[in-house]
Amino acid sequence: MDLARPKILIIYTGGTIGMIENPVTHALQPFDFTHLIDNVPKIKMLDYEIHNIQFNPPIDSAAMGPSHWSDMAAAIEDNYDNFDGFVVLHGTDTMAFTASALSFMLENLHKPVIITGSQLPIGEVRTDGEENLITALQVAASRDKNGDPMVQEVAILFENYLWRGNRSTKMSADNFNAFKSNNYPPLAKIGLDIHFNEDVLYRVPSKRPLKVRYNMDPNVMFIDLYPGIPEGTLRYLLHTPDLKGIVLKTFGAGNGPMESWFTGAIREAVERGIVILNVTQCVNGGVHSTLYDTGNGLARAGVVSGHDITSEAAITKMMYLFGMGLQAETVKKYLCYSLCGEVTI
Ligand code: ASP
Repeated sequence: MDLARPKILIIYTGGTIGMIENPVTHALQPFDFTHLIDNVPKIKMLDYEIHNIQFNPPIDSAAMGPSHWSDMAAAIEDNYDNFDGFVVLHGTDTMAFTASALSFMLENLHKPVIITGSQLPIGEVRTDGEENLITALQVAASRDKNGDPMVQEVAILFENYLWRGNRSTKMSADNFNAFKSNNYPPLAKIGLDIHFNEDVLYRVPSKRPLKVRYNMDPNVMFIDLYPGIPEGTLRYLLHTPDLKGIVLKTFGAGNGPMESWFTGAIREAVERGIVILNVTQCVNGGVHSTLYDTGNGLARAGVVSGHDITSEAAITKMMYLFGMGLQAETVKKYLCYSLCGEVTI
C-alpha cells in the first residue's frame, strides 16, 4: 500500500449530514451521495485516494438495526485489505449504538473505523458536516511513529473530539459537540491540530486477522426503573416472550426499589435463565453493587454489574454475545470482561 497516499473508503449510510430540504414539504430528506462530494470541494485538497459506497436508499439513523450494522461490517470486511481506513457517515440519533455494535462485531480490528455525521445538513451555510467529514478523513489517514494506523478501533468523530465508539453517548440534540464519553477520556482533541491522546488508544492484544461476527440477537431489552414502578409492570416485562437478556437501568450506583417483591421478581427471572446487567441511569460514573443495600440485593439476586458501561454498549454487547449462541452463564462471564475497551473493570 502507498504510505504517502492514504486510501480511505467512505461508507455513507444517511442521516442529517446528507440531507436536503424537500422544496414542497420542507422536511429533510436524504439525497444522493454524489451531491455530498459536490458540497465539500475541499475533500479534493486532501491528497488521499477516496472511494465511496452508499446505502441505497440512505436512511435516517432512527431506522438502523442489526441488519444495517451487518451491511456496514460487510462493507468493511470486503474492503479491509484494500484500504487504510474507513469513514462511516451516519445519523447522530443512533450513532453510539452503531459504534458500539461495530466495535463488538469487528473482532481483531486494527484499522480505523471513524463514524461521523452532523447536526446541520452539509448543504447549509453553517453546517458542521464539512468540518466533521474532513477531520474524520484526516483521522482515518493518521499513522503513528511506526507507520501503523494511529486509530485501530471504532471511534466517533464529532466537532472537537474523537471518542471511543463503545464509550460514547449522544448528549445533545442541538449542540455541535453532540457526543461525549462520560467515563473515558477523548482519544483525540480537535483544535488547530489533531492532538491524539496516544495513551488511551485501543490496541488489539494480538494481530489476528479480522473476524466479523454478523449475528446479533435482538432478544434483549432495556428496563428503565423509576420510583413507583408497579410490580405487575415489571413482572410483565420480565416475561417478554423469547427474552434472553435485560439491561436494567438503575438509580445512582446501581440501586433499585427496596421492596422484597422487586428483588424477588428479579431473582425469579435470573433463575429462569435471563441474564440481567445492572447499568446506572447516571451519565457519569458506574455501578458499585456493594455500596448500598439496594444494589447489594440485586447482586445477590444474580444481577451482573455493568460497572461504567454505557447503555448503548451494554445492549449491543448482549446482542453480540447471545448472537454467538452462548449460554446464559457464559454470557454473564463475558459481561464481566472488557472485550474491546468498553468498560473499566
Ligand atoms: N434523525 C437524524 C439521524 O439520526 C439526525 C441526525 O443525523 O443528526 O439520522
